[in-house]
Amino acid sequence: MTELERYRTETAGLAAPDLLRWARSTFGQQGVTFASSLGAEDQVITHLLAEHAADIPVFTLDTGRLHQETYDLLHRTRVRYALDIAIYFPDARQVEEMVREGGPNLFYDSQANRKRCCHVRKVAPLGRALAGRRAWICGLRRGQSGTRGEIQLVDWDDANGLYRIAPLADWSEEQVWRFIREHDVPYNELHDHGYPSIGCAPCTRAVNPGDDPRSGRWWWELPEHRECGLHTADRAAGAPGRFGITTINPGH
Ligand code: SF4
Repeated sequence: MTELERYRTETAGLAAPDLLRWARSTFGQQGVTFASSLGAEDQVITHLLAEHAADIPVFTLDTGRLHQETYDLLHRTRVRYALDIAIYFPDARQVEEMVREGGPNLFYDSQANRKRCCHVRKVAPLGRALAGRRAWICGLRRGQSGTRGEIQLVDWDDANGLYRIAPLADWSEEQVWRFIREHDVPYNELHDHGYPSIGCAPCTRAVNPGDDPRSGRWWWELPEHRECGLHTADRAAGAPGRFGITTINPGH
């Protein structure tokens, strides 16, 4: 039995709070970290961590292109949970070079440009945030889009070289929002204005009721390309890599 198979056996059927406790005891306080994009699912996980595994470090990515509402939520979350959220920024020189060559809105010009921007602003900072960890926690759910249907509670993240834990993998969107309302969890007010999935401001737009929740992200690209590289295994050819930032909302 491989280590991954053993972990999956140990975690089969665990509820989200128990999975977080398992992660803390299996990987140690410094061995695991939670990558919050400040999306609805991640806010649920932040609340669960505060109650069940409060010493697991939390970080987020500030791409420099987020909505003001996202910064407001970051501030409210820090206050509500007395949480020291580490904030990782892109490398200033890489941003300067990229913007000088492609302009500030280069992501609209080609998929290569969009992936370059996601790599500089999300994937590279994510790599720094995950360095030295054995596992990371994220808010992926199988129901989020067609590209996330295979999400497991515990998986090996080959692109980032560590385990990935998705406590809400089998939660429905309805469960997420019921939890938020029942526990008065702070959430991004853009969710009340037609934004089910929130990333960077220039790459996110509102969707119509009933539309694919991810259809407002990078809407000018084909659906199968709509990952930022934080959670996708496409590091090849200069692509962002995995963690399809999905958000790490930086809109992961
Ligand atoms: Fe750049 Fe953010 Fe848009 Fe990715 S989502 S292309 S990082 S602005």
